[in-house]
Amino acid sequence: MAIDSPLQSRVASPTTSEKDMKALKFIEEMTRNPDSVQEKVLGEILSRNSNTEYLKRFDLNGAVDRKTFKRKVPVVMYEDLKTEIQRISNGDRSPILSSHPINEFLTSSGTSAGERKLMPTIEEDIDRRQLLGGLLMPVMNLYVPGLDKGKGLYFLFVKSESKTSGGLPARPALTSYYKSDHFRTSDSENVYTSPREAILCSDSSQSMYAQMLCGLLMRHEVLRLGAVFPSGLLRAISFLQNNWKELAQDISTGILSTKIFDPAIKNRMSKILTKPDQELAEFLIGVCSQENWEGIITRIWPNTKYLDVIVTGAMAQYIPMLEYYSGGLPIASTIYASSESYFGINLNPMCKPSEVSYTIMPNMAYFEFLPYNHDGDGALDETSLVELADVEVEKEYELVITTYAGLYRYRVGDILCVTGFYNSAPQFKFIRRENVLLSIESDKTDEADLQKAVDNASRLLAEKGTRVIEYTSYAETKTIPGHYVIYWELLGRDQSNAHPSDEVMAKCCLEMEESLTSVYRQSRVSDKSIGPLEIRVVQNRTFDELMDFAISRGSSINQYKVPRCVSLTPILELLDSRVVSAHFSPSLPHWSPERRH
Ligand code: AMP
Repeated sequence: MAIDSPLQSRVASPTTSEKDMKALKFIEEMTRNPDSVQEKVLGEILSRNSNTEYLKRFDLNGAVDRKTFKRKVPVVMYEDLKTEIQRISNGDRSPILSSHPINEFLTSSGTSAGERKLMPTIEEDIDRRQLLGGLLMPVMNLYVPGLDKGKGLYFLFVKSESKTSGGLPARPALTSYYKSDHFRTSDSENVYTSPREAILCSDSSQSMYAQMLCGLLMRHEVLRLGAVFPSGLLRAISFLQNNWKELAQDISTGILSTKIFDPAIKNRMSKILTKPDQELAEFLIGVCSQENWEGIITRIWPNTKYLDVIVTGAMAQYIPMLEYYSGGLPIASTIYASSESYFGINLNPMCKPSEVSYTIMPNMAYFEFLPYNHDGDGALDETSLVELADVEVEKEYELVITTYAGLYRYRVGDILCVTGFYNSAPQFKFIRRENVLLSIESDKTDEADLQKAVDNASRLLAEKGTRVIEYTSYAETKTIPGHYVIYWELLGRDQSNAHPSDEVMAKCCLEMEESLTSVYRQSRVSDKSIGPLEIRVVQNRTFDELMDFAISRGSSINQYKVPRCVSLTPILELLDSRVVSAHFSPSLPHWSPERRH
C-alpha cells in the first residue's frame, strides 16, 4: 500500500543535492519492497553464520529461509545468551554467535542483574549504523531548506568505557562512534559548532564549557540545536545559567578561562577564540542577566529552526521544559535506534511529538513482531510472530531482531504500534519499553529494581519498628538535572515512631541509590545527569485516598493495584498535599567503570 506522503512529493525537488538524492532514492528502494530486503538480509545472516556454535545447535543444515529459521531457532532474551556473551567477553575468539569476530561490545542502557547489557558488534556494523544516520539530514533538508548554510550546536559527549577481561572495549554506541576513524575523517567540523577535541574530552565540564563557548561565538551560524537526550540539552541551558559570566569574560578578553586545562581543547580553542569581541560579550550579559529565561534559546541563537532531540517514549516528559526554553520551536525526533542495532528513521521529522512514527529500514537487521497482548499471561507463542511486511495498522507488537553480529530472534523489549505505511514499509509509533517505570536519561528502572531498592532501604527503619506500607515513584524532571522522587507511607510500632529522623531517612535515600542499577549510579556519579534521590514521607491513609481517587475515576475496586510510578497531575497534587517531610540522598552512591566480567 502506498500513501501520499510529503516525502514522496518532495523527493524530486530541483534544489536537492546529489548526495541527498542518493539517500532519498535509497529510502525509496528500501521501502518499496521491504519483504524481499528482509528475505535477503536473513539469508545473508544465516549463510555467513552457519558455522557458529549457536546456530549449529538448532540443526538448520544450511537452510537460510525464513520458514525453517522460525521453526527451529527459539525466541530469546538477553538472559538466555549470558553464557555465550560471557565467554566472548572473557576472550573466547571461536565463532560462538558470529562468524565475523566480535570487535567490541556496545553497552546498552538496559540492564541485566543491575549491570549494563553487553551487545556484540562486528567491525562492519559501524558502516550500517552510519548508513542509517546518513539518511537523517537528507530527509530533514526536504522540510527545512538551507540547513547547509549554517551549523548545528549539538552537545555531544563521550562516556566512560571499560575493557572486558578478554580485552574487548565495552562502551556506548555513540562513544564508540566519536572515537572511530569514521568520525575523525567525517566533515563534522563543517556541520557542528563543537570541535572534535571538545567532544572527545572525557571531563564533561571542560567539554561542555568549550562546546558552549563555540556555540556562543558562532551564534548567528547556528540553525539547529541538539543533544542525544533532552536532559542533555536542558543541562546545557543550566550550565549556561551557572557559567555565563565566565563565558562572557572569555569572549570580551579573547582569552580562554584557566578552568580549561585539557591540552587538546586549549590548543584547538586558541584557533577559534582569537580576538576579543566586546559586542558579543555585552549582548550575552544583557540576555543572561535577565531573570526570565523563557525563550532563551531563540534569543541567543535567533536563527534556530528546530531542536534535534528524541522526545518519544519516556523522554516525552521533557517537552514542556524544552518548549519553555526554546519559545516553542519544533522538536524533531529523528531516529529510533539501540545498541543491538539501529532500527529506523522519522520520515516526517517536523511533525508534532505526539505524531512521530518511525519507518524501520529493512536492511538494518531481520525484524519480527510479537503481537502484544495487554491481558496476556506472559506465555510466549513463538508461532505468532509476524514479518515486517505483515504487521497490521493499529496493532501493537514487541520488536524481535536478528542481527549480523549474532543475536537471533532477540526480544528488544520495545512495544510499538503500527500507524501506517510509507510505500510498503510499516511505520511505528514508539509506545514504551516493557517494564520501565522511571527514566531521567539513559537509566531505565523497572518495577523489580524499584522494589529491591525500597526493600533494602526500608530495612534501615525496621530496627526502629517502622515499616514502609506503601510506596510509589515519580521522575521529577522540572529540576535540572532531574531526580527520582519516592513517596513512602510509613507505619510505626506506635505513631510517635512512624517518622524517623532526617538522618535516618537520608540514609534510606542513599541506600536506595546504592541498590539501583549501574546505569543509574553511573548517571549519578560520572555523568552527573541525575540529581540526589528524594524520599517524600506522606501522611497515614494517603494511599487509601489514592485508591479512592482511582475508583472515582472508574477503576475496579477488585482490580486496583497501587501504581508504582505516577505522572498524572491530580495524583501528584494529591500526594504532594499530604507530604509530611522530604529527604535527599546526602552523598553519591558507589560506581566504578570496571565491569564484573
Ligand atoms: P540503548 O541500547 O541504551 O541505546 O537503548 C535503546 C533503547 O532506547 C531502545 O530499545 C528504546 O527503548 C529506547 N529508544 C531508542 N530510540 C528511541 C526513540 N526514538 N524513541 C523512544 N525510545 C527510544
